[in-house]
Amino acid sequence: MPHTPFELDGKTVFVAGHRGMVGSALLRRLAQEGVKLLTAGRAELDLRDQAAVREWFAANRPQVVFVAAAKVGGIAANNALRGQFIYENLAITTNIIHAAYASRAEKLMFLGSSCIYPRLAAQPISEDSLLTGPLEPTNEPYAIAKIAGIKMAEAYRSQYGVDFVSVMPTNLYGPGDNYHPEHSHVVAALIRRFHEAKLSKAPSVVVWGTGAPRREFLYVDDLADACVFLMKNYSDAGPINIGTGEDITIAEFAAEVAVTVGYTGEIEFDASRPDGTPRKLLDVGRLSRLGWRASTSLRDGLRLAYGAFLDNEAFDKKNAAADLVTS
Ligand code: GDP
Repeated sequence: MPHTPFELDGKTVFVAGHRGMVGSALLRRLAQEGVKLLTAGRAELDLRDQAAVREWFAANRPQVVFVAAAKVGGIAANNALRGQFIYENLAITTNIIHAAYASRAEKLMFLGSSCIYPRLAAQPISEDSLLTGPLEPTNEPYAIAKIAGIKMAEAYRSQYGVDFVSVMPTNLYGPGDNYHPEHSHVVAALIRRFHEAKLSKAPSVVVWGTGAPRREFLYVDDLADACVFLMKNYSDAGPINIGTGEDITIAEFAAEVAVTVGYTGEIEFDASRPDGTPRKLLDVGRLSRLGWRASTSLRDGLRLAYGAFLDNEAFDKKNAAADLVTS
């Protein structure tokens, strides 16, 4: 039966999606706990394959499951790859939640996203605003798959009495992010664009949209810490928000990235690109009342993320050079 505090110590823990930005942060954080970590690479287990997932869970029997596997992307990827986003996320979600139930996992945490809330939800967005209004159209397929996951965890909890919970992180960034020029989220996109502009001494950098939308950004290691905290201390049916409680405009954010990267040219806005939701600041009251708050400021987090980007770039260059030598 669901209860808190939930004892993690000594448990076998499966992090689904461990190669992603969130999953790898969870592995870093869980290394500080006395748990036995289980992971499965893509070649070993395709999470979209129902039979394969069922067999893997039956063979490995994790006691605790973090569902950090998802097909994710920024506003352009969500809008363009609508079919893939709804199918892959629904498949991954339903396969894992059902297999965890069937193999008698003790606790499961499903990770959603703040885009599940109505486009024009009252700010800051309370967990109770779920399903009270229309979604933002650019990421509706992704949001629908994530809402299905929340409702599935809730339904299994109510019908089978299992301890399955859902957490809703705000916009995330940090090491392991995807820097694809078109498909990435705004933080990775701007780190890369400002960095390249600095190197090429470009007079200006283009930022999508009007610059007016407001976003809340959480450093991914803070998210991982919140997830471990909630795994131990949260056991309710509804989702719980994870954020910093503060947001800034995209224009202000772009200026912060310019400072971090050391770019001194102009910033231009391309209003032909979509703005997406005007604002999505999460109400983190529930989380703070439980006793957790974010500890990394945006300035520090951006510095760490830029450092990770540079390391990654150096690594890619070294590998590219090695390829040239061997081929
Ligand atoms: P969203 O929070 O789901 O809209 O995800 P994104 O991280 O993709 O976008 C956040 C905001 O940043 C939106 O208003 C975008 O229009 C804006 N933005 C500005 N420049 C960029 C960019 O180069 N890439 C992305 N993905 N978003 C950008």
